[in-house]
Amino acid sequence: KKHNVAILYGGKSGEHDVSLLSASSVERHLDKKKYNIHLIGITLEGLWYYQHNYTNSSQSLEIVRDESKLISLIPGKGIMYHGQILDIDFIFPILHGTFGEDGTLQGLLDIIDIPYAGSGMEGSFMAMDKEYAKIVWEKEGLPVVPFISIKKHTFIDNPNEIEKQINNKFNYPIFVKPVKTGSSVGVSRVDSSDKLLPALKNAFNYDHKVLIEPAINAREIECSVIGNNYPKTFSLGEIAPSHEFYDYEAKYIDPNGAKLIIPAILTENQKEEIKEIARKAYIAINCKGFSRVDFFLDIDTNSVMLNEINTIPGFTNVSMFSMLCAEDGLNYSDLLDKIFEYGQGKYREQQ
Ligand code: ATP
Ligand code: MG
Ligand code: MG
Ligand code: MG
Repeated sequence: KKHNVAILYGGKSGEHDVSLLSASSVERHLDKKKYNIHLIGITLEGLWYYQHNYTNSSQSLEIVRDESKLISLIPGKGIMYHGQILDIDFIFPILHGTFGEDGTLQGLLDIIDIPYAGSGMEGSFMAMDKEYAKIVWEKEGLPVVPFISIKKHTFIDNPNEIEKQINNKFNYPIFVKPVKTGSSVGVSRVDSSDKLLPALKNAFNYDHKVLIEPAINAREIECSVIGNNYPKTFSLGEIAPSHEFYDYEAKYIDPNGAKLIIPAILTENQKEEIKEIARKAYIAINCKGFSRVDFFLDIDTNSVMLNEINTIPGFTNVSMFSMLCAEDGLNYSDLLDKIFEYGQGKYREQQ
């Protein structure tokens, strides 16, 4: 029997366009012999449109806006379209950032009661908030980049005091990052104190809380993880950005913005250490299904540090996440099958 699955994509997020690419890849690679596919496009304003008789011939999915194709959600029942509950037994939420990757959507899907791919509400939220993720990891004894967090209202109340606090605590260069963005949206590297206030103002445009960290002189290593309670890792990848850091342009605009090195050249010990930390970091945050864990390998001290975890990483067939799985023989379509399996069952405790 074929499975009826829906792909949710787009979203009310700074990473809306990234999702159109990821979801297009997922749609093209889901095995049509196993799955009937429905598409639901979510606009930047947050409206959900059923994509009737969609076509997907390009690299990027479109969202056709037609007021007669708005869908509604029925708690406990599912997704309603034109007065009928759609026959959908599984959802692939292929959305990045706010209202897709941050737990809000996952809570909603729990309430409408359709199983879905990836982490639940709790794991999604903890992973998305870089401060909470790091607090949990520190508690587990996992290595993280030192940080402080600043709330927007304290900054607005007294920007000069916040500036002084940061200058007393850190040597430049530092990184200023909204706690809950992705794709480097709102992230800046700050080389001197005179650039701090504009960087903080910019970051606070995206979030109510901002992290300050020392800039680590590091190689950037990424690890794909799949599974539920007994997660598996794959060969590691390295990102070598040609920009000052791995910013939005290097990720999506500049075709020469970064080199993806697969597999990363590392010693056996380094590989084992990184994979072990990745598994522990995934379990600590209660991730399910799949995630990509991002690391720094400090060039000066050779130490490994967790940077962050992404519960819905860039998900095209040429994204780091899927290429690391493919490197070890798990091709993209089979990866989607696994993620489907890991998402089955209410508490997803099986694997
Ligand atoms: P993603 O697209 O991976 O979800 P993100 O927006 O969640 O990205 P980070 O991965 O935390 O943000 O940071 C983006 C990039 O900024 C990193 O890949 C790295 O190049 C740089 N960076 C962030 N923090 C630091 C740091 N403390 N030291 C050095 N570089 C950093
Ligand atoms: Mg991230
Ligand atoms: Mg991300
Ligand atoms: Mg990252």
